[in-house]
Amino acid sequence: MEVDVVIVGGGIAGLWTLDHLRRQGYRAVLVENRALGHGQTVSSQGIIHGGLKYSLKGVLTASADEIREMPVLWRDCLSGVAEPNLSKTAIRSHSCYLWQTRALASQAGMLGAQLNLRVKPKEIPEAQRPEILRQTPGHVYRLDEQVLSPASLLECFRSRLAGYLMKVDEADGISLEQEKSGQINSVVLRENGRELTVHCRAVVLSAGAGNALLSKESGREHAMQLRPLHMTLARGPLPMFQGHCIDGAKTRLTVTSDYLRDGRTVWQLGGNLAEQGTKQQADELIRHAAAELQETLPAIDLDEVEFATYRIDRAEKQVRLGLRPDSPQILRHGNALTCWPTKLAFAPRCAERISAMLKKELRIEAGDDEWKPDELADWNMPAVAAAPWETVETWYTADGTPIPSELRRAS
Ligand SMILES: Cc1cc2nc3c(=O)[nH]c(=O)nc-3n(C[C@H](O)[C@H](O)[C@H](O)COP(=O)(O)OP(=O)(O)OC[C@H]3O[C@@H](n4cnc5c(N)ncnc54)[C@H](O)[C@@H]3O)c2cc1C
Repeated sequence: MEVDVVIVGGGIAGLWTLDHLRRQGYRAVLVENRALGHGQTVSSQGIIHGGLKYSLKGVLTASADEIREMPVLWRDCLSGVAEPNLSKTAIRSHSCYLWQTRALASQAGMLGAQLNLRVKPKEIPEAQRPEILRQTPGHVYRLDEQVLSPASLLECFRSRLAGYLMKVDEADGISLEQEKSGQINSVVLRENGRELTVHCRAVVLSAGAGNALLSKESGREHAMQLRPLHMTLARGPLPMFQGHCIDGAKTRLTVTSDYLRDGRTVWQLGGNLAEQGTKQQADELIRHAAAELQETLPAIDLDEVEFATYRIDRAEKQVRLGLRPDSPQILRHGNALTCWPTKLAFAPRCAERISAMLKKELRIEAGDDEWKPDELADWNMPAVAAAPWETVETWYTADGTPIPSELRRAS
């Protein structure tokens, strides 16, 4: 099979890039060795950030500057008025709350205005606050950053891109074949005993944490950093709620909500809790998370809530002192482009830049938007990865005691 571009890795970076390249008329396919979004994308909290979180110190950091256009761009795609049409994605909320635990001077509202963010926080009068925020003493704001269900976003891309997605074996499913010059001319794909050689003009490595291994195997070692998180899940009789608890310049807690298969609610707890939690065992983190919830959301009732935790790394291009990069990162080595979007929200930027590099630096022109490879008709498509609450094994009470499976309330 002959293509312009092979994309390796079907998280948000690879999928958005494939969609973008296909719409431009590139002959492109994507290969995935586990399930779409396995790793970071399916675990992400699904917030389309607009920069406020990165401006809490009162300065417009490079991150905030770069990201402020993203909510508008995503909103147009999610509502189906721009391509890619992502209107089948489940939106969990069109906005997030910001709240403070102490009655400090109104800081967040001023910041949004001063820093000229596109999405500015709007203060909410006490009577209009959701029940869960009624007893918080500080200011409460609404921030029009959408929160989406990452699994349904992945499902939406999977159906848009059917016919261009290929599942390969988890181990040894892909070999990058290169010339002495380092140019990758073909990729050999293996699945269940069969093999296909795909000749290509460029390769995009969008395999998240897997980029390190792929780059190493092809002699293009790039410095990558992993920033660990220990996330907490809480399921049971909880309201759908999305928000950041702000403490000074820090996000003390980020809460996002989704639905379990039985229709009940599950919360993901990130922010400082998850960054600091990497040093804690599951039971310890759960006790801390329950205390943080009780302190930051005094109206919450945790009596019937079950908790779990999981560990996950954010994979990024290495930057000085292990800080977070400000923007999507793409490194070119010959005809291989290795990318890390840094944020789910940055996926569109990442795709645009890859496409520009293909044209300007690799001189690969697009042209065939009708192309549909026959070879893929009977090749398996990758499934969408399971959400973290579907794969964790042990659930605990708020005091960190494991709950035997027959006594668990939700499933
Ligand atoms: C807990 C958490 C919460 C987050 N919340 C947010 C948020 O609210 N908003 C936001 O903007 N960002 C958020 N992020 C960041 C965001 O999730 C990531 O920046 C983004 O999902 C990275 O996407 P990716 O496509 O680069 O990688 P991944 O999603 O990790 O995808 C990589 C894919 O490559 C595949 N792969 C790996 N190795 C190979 C191989 N050898 N061959 C073929 N395929 C391979 C994997 O199976 C996977 O499907 C969060 C991250 C985490 C961890």
